Amino acid sequence: MKTEKAINLLENKKIAIIGGGPGGLTLARLLQFKGAEVKVYERDANRASRVQGAIVDLHFDSGLKVMEAAGLMEAFKANYMQGADKTRMVDQNAHVYVDEHNEVSEVNFGDNRFRPEIDRGALRNVLADSLLPGTVVWDSQFIGMEQINGKWEIQFKNGTKAVADLVIGSDGHRSKIRPYVTDIKAAYSGATIIQGEIDHPEKDCPEVYQLVDNGSLIAMGVGKTIAVQPRGDGGLTFYAASLYPENWIKLCGIDFGKSEEVNAFLMEFYEGWNPVFFTLFKACTHFSARPLNYFPLDQKWDAQSNITIIGDAAHLMPPSGEGVNTAMLDALDLSQCLTSGKFKNLQSAIAAFEKQMLSRAFTLGQESLDGIKDFASPTEESVSKLKLQFEQKALN
Ligand SMILES: Cc1cc2nc3c(=O)[nH]c(=O)nc-3n(C[C@H](O)[C@H](O)[C@H](O)COP(=O)(O)OP(=O)(O)OC[C@H]3O[C@@H](n4cnc5c(N)ncnc54)[C@H](O)[C@@H]3O)c2cc1C
Repeated sequence: MKTEKAINLLENKKIAIIGGGPGGLTLARLLQFKGAEVKVYERDANRASRVQGAIVDLHFDSGLKVMEAAGLMEAFKANYMQGADKTRMVDQNAHVYVDEHNEVSEVNFGDNRFRPEIDRGALRNVLADSLLPGTVVWDSQFIGMEQINGKWEIQFKNGTKAVADLVIGSDGHRSKIRPYVTDIKAAYSGATIIQGEIDHPEKDCPEVYQLVDNGSLIAMGVGKTIAVQPRGDGGLTFYAASLYPENWIKLCGIDFGKSEEVNAFLMEFYEGWNPVFFTLFKACTHFSARPLNYFPLDQKWDAQSNITIIGDAAHLMPPSGEGVNTAMLDALDLSQCLTSGKFKNLQSAIAAFEKQMLSRAFTLGQESLDGIKDFASPTEESVSKLKLQFEQKALN
């Protein structure tokens, strides 16, 4: 039987991935696996230049599947935080009403309910360490690019330039690559988070540290929530979420760079809550605020032959525990489309990838939009329902 020779779409092609988050680094690993010539241009000065945030859980049929495909399962197992997948839920009085710490759980990577957590910094290290030396070009903040003779000439803030045949934007929620692909803008979900970092919680807010107990703590009151998670370095990250008007961060008059101003706001906003939460705010060394935006679920654009986007840059959605997992799945799907030999040219490979990606993002985006208001602003009814479920579970 006559077989057609697979077309190698990436032969003699230079690939520039902009953004070294989970999506971009995973894609680099998967493409290098197939022998492609890849560079990742990342804004951060180096891999340790900022705290990456707290933990993320990888899922059996997405993040973990991709780690397996990337040959990184053993590295993942050596770095994940055992036991951090337990959740404790409390009400605003810090009364515990869901406690997974009391449940015996098994470490079973073959079970699709097992969702091991990993520190974001550790995940970045596992992925970056798997790449050929020099693949990640740190301190490279993308500022613009133009097409010259069919190639992209890319400019970085530090004055350097790079040339690539194919550009992939994995530069997150404020992507600078996205406008080269589509002019569809993000919309506001209605929820905003104030994020805080605590470097020495054991000393500075010991009661919260004990409540977190190396897992996730979720405190819900009517109209507002606080979620606290451990970091791999012993610190804590918290997210204080609620519904705020659009542009509240700009209009509220709070300077989020000044701890005392944010503290004063939070103490007032959470008035009536157990004072244990105020120790959390006081212990915080670094605050930031972020509106939870999303790209329209039905977004579409015409595929191009030399550029695409993945992860949050393509389908930002409110947090629902899927963002990192989905960015990694995008990386797997794109690497497969580009290297399968099934497509006659880059444009059709990119078109097939984007169709698959946008269809998945439609479903996940809907779920995250449905969930975000319940998370950021629980109603009296939803808080009572959770408590009831817990009490019934305890009786059985
Ligand atoms: C509060 C909160 C909690 C979340 N919790 C979870 C969770 O538990 N589980 C989960 O799966 N997801 C979670 N998410 C979502 C998740 O963080 C994102 O979906 C995920 O990080 C997207 O990965 P990414 O690689 O596309 O982009 P990012 O992780 O945003 O990475 C983008 C990278 O690009 C770099 N970059 C940005 N601009 C430039 C530029 N101009 N030039 C060069 N580099 C640039 C950035 O420095 C960064 O390294 C959460 C999100 C939020 C806001």
